[in-house]
Amino acid sequence: MELSVKAVKKKATEAARNEVLHRTLSDAGDRFVSLRENGFNQLEDPDGLRARGRAIKEKCLANMPNLLRLLEKKVTDAGGVVHWAKDGPTARKIILNLARQHGVKTVVKGKSMMTEEIALNKALAEKGIEAWETDLGEFIVQLAGETPSHIIAPAIHKNREEVGRLFSAKLGVPYTTNPEELTMVARKVLREKFLGADMGITGGNMAVAETGTLALFENEGNIRLSTSLPRVHVAIIGIEKVVETWDDFGVLMKLLSRSAAGQKMPTYLSLITGPKKANEQDGAEAFHLVLLDNGRSRMLGDRVLRDSLFCLRCGACLNVCPVYKRVGGHACGWVYSGPIGILLDSELLPPGSARDLAFACTLCGACAEVCPVLIEHPKMILDFRRRLAEDPMWKGPRVLSRVLPVKAYSWLSVRPFLFRCAGFLARGIQRVMAPSGEWKWLPGPLAEWGSRRKIPRFKRPFSRRWKALKMSLKKKQGTGGG
Ligand code: SF4
Ligand code: SF4
Repeated sequence: MELSVKAVKKKATEAARNEVLHRTLSDAGDRFVSLRENGFNQLEDPDGLRARGRAIKEKCLANMPNLLRLLEKKVTDAGGVVHWAKDGPTARKIILNLARQHGVKTVVKGKSMMTEEIALNKALAEKGIEAWETDLGEFIVQLAGETPSHIIAPAIHKNREEVGRLFSAKLGVPYTTNPEELTMVARKVLREKFLGADMGITGGNMAVAETGTLALFENEGNIRLSTSLPRVHVAIIGIEKVVETWDDFGVLMKLLSRSAAGQKMPTYLSLITGPKKANEQDGAEAFHLVLLDNGRSRMLGDRVLRDSLFCLRCGACLNVCPVYKRVGGHACGWVYSGPIGILLDSELLPPGSARDLAFACTLCGACAEVCPVLIEHPKMILDFRRRLAEDPMWKGPRVLSRVLPVKAYSWLSVRPFLFRCAGFLARGIQRVMAPSGEWKWLPGPLAEWGSRRKIPRFKRPFSRRWKALKMSLKKKQGTGGG
């Protein structure tokens, strides 16, 4: 999949102008932020736990080939089947073959970024297989013909009025904005789908190698139904999701649940080791685990960007990112968005696809502050930008347009007289172009940039304000001494 820079820019421009979207994203993001804070405040040593989480991810990534082999053995011993997929097309082929072998007509899906990454729904539809998203947020975006705009809250960009209108139009139910009534509508539709589905497809939050167990976190109960009602369960996970032991799992579960929604643990935790056994009542008759690489091995070899593989997909970095909160996930153009999206896109998509995303970052550092496994996004984004700037393929007007203003500023800033003249000139232009203090437009190439921003008014230069402050302090001291 290649991102169209033009399409991404168009989406970002539209999103940046959408005030309803800003309010919806901000309100929802703030709620997640406060849930996370409450969750971490209850811990005695939250930073110690984060450091342990990071160390566990370091250890598991360093030993990934062995852990994956152990996982395969344990899953197989438990009666499951492991499939290796080097990329998206291979993973799609494996799942479509399984669907054909088992005579599958209808699929119910648990929320899975992995299936979004490989565009599985489209592939299923092309083969005439009906696939239903059963997570409420995913169900909403599926009905709307959209993709998720947040890692853990796919419909975060939609307010209840929009959902009410959507349900009314697509499901023929009376318009309502009552969340409980809307949930009951989805529940009624999906109950029938669970009962009639031949296959359940899910992702997975972790896979514990020592026992071959897949762990799935959720708060709605839909994953539990998707993995136990249909005859066949297919789970697809990235190879970086493997952990060695249950102790490792315990630490990461604590971090993920608190970081995502301030919970000690998810409302529902499904631990699946192979298909159901002869003496068990619940569970699928066949269990398949697809291990997807899709560029992750390459990432592992990258000394800086490999840290993105630590990601637990908690979504906390998105909720605090000022850029994400302004434009949302769809503006990023692919399934992963926000701070972690910049890093994953830069490695998982063709070279250069994420270059505009990388330059959209303000380097404020908020994402690194909240990451439960201490990923340093700004440092990594800077490194990615440096590579783009050095790469002859991407060098050119786009990079120059960013480099030239900085070079001009640094040249001026060490020439006080010229610096003052430039300030004087800028304030003069402002008097003509923005007499009321608000810039309505900017000239030439700055027009598009300015159309999405409120440009603050140039104030009295700092050097003059500093001088005035020093003089008033001196005066005060003089008065005090007298
Ligand atoms: S550093 Fe960049 S990616 Fe991280 S929160 Fe700030 S703007 Fe977003
Ligand atoms: S990068 Fe960190 S904060 Fe962002 S989703 Fe991943 S684990 Fe969560």
